Amino acid sequence: MINDIDYTKIFSEIVTEFKDNDDCGKVATYIPELGKVDPNKLGIHLTTVEKHHSSFGDWNEKFSIQSIAKVLSLTLALKIMGNDVWDRVGVEPSGTAFNSLVQLEYERGIPRNPFINAGAIVICDILVSCLDNPKLELLEFIRKSSGIREIDFCLKIAQSEKVTGFRNYALAHLMKDFCNIHNEVELVLDLYFHLCSIKMTCKELAQAFLFLASYGVNPITNETVISPGRTKRINSIMLMCGFYDEAGEFAFRAGLPGKSGVGGGIVAIHPGKYCIAVWSPKLNTNGNSYKGMRVLEAITTKTESSIF
Ligand code: GLN
Repeated sequence: MINDIDYTKIFSEIVTEFKDNDDCGKVATYIPELGKVDPNKLGIHLTTVEKHHSSFGDWNEKFSIQSIAKVLSLTLALKIMGNDVWDRVGVEPSGTAFNSLVQLEYERGIPRNPFINAGAIVICDILVSCLDNPKLELLEFIRKSSGIREIDFCLKIAQSEKVTGFRNYALAHLMKDFCNIHNEVELVLDLYFHLCSIKMTCKELAQAFLFLASYGVNPITNETVISPGRTKRINSIMLMCGFYDEAGEFAFRAGLPGKSGVGGGIVAIHPGKYCIAVWSPKLNTNGNSYKGMRVLEAITTKTESSIF
């Protein structure tokens, strides 16, 4: 029971209600390693800023967090480079698929936001320019800010994505032509593929992202990850851009800033209250977890807790 709400009971009620509904989603197979996951996994974990935990199902199993990690790379880039980041990438919703090339040509190599693939690749380019050992230092930043030493890349997934990442190569080369990638494409994408390969459990995700619910300080480690002002900006971009061409749909359904990944994970933030992570690997046609979005909608509706 947290502030009079029995989250664990609510999670299991919602999952029972959904049992008879078809899950129309499909596991991502365009990264072959992701296609090996059991499609029926379902995990939920909520951590409050007062450090109370509630969980359900496969909450303690690691999975590939994919694009959810783009929030952490942006956080590190903002810490290092400050507002200059915004000369290289925008803060507007894209209204296009996460891996779309179309807009990038029109907009002369400046991605709409840091959460579509093109934007996250630019953020990786910034990190490659600023850090001596970008992969190690990024991982160290995530471990330190979350307080979880066990967080690591999955080399099999990174490799699987590298050999099939034709679109990401296309995006990077197009931006290089517009002078918005400063380093070797191969180096930048190596960091990008490793970033996307990070594995965490729902519990670890809720802990690693709790600073966004707590004005930039992780209440579990007392580590100041980023300033309150930048926390506001990151949450705002999550609300507007966290689900690509379905960002409006998630805000409409769940009423919280959130970020999805093609591994089937979603993280959502209730500023001042909690961080929740849901994992259900089957994706809708926009590349977001089909059941995950619905579970989060039901949770915020039942508990009457959203930012609106
Ligand atoms: N690694 C994935 C890709 O680049 C990330 C996409 C996602 O999670 N939406 O295609």
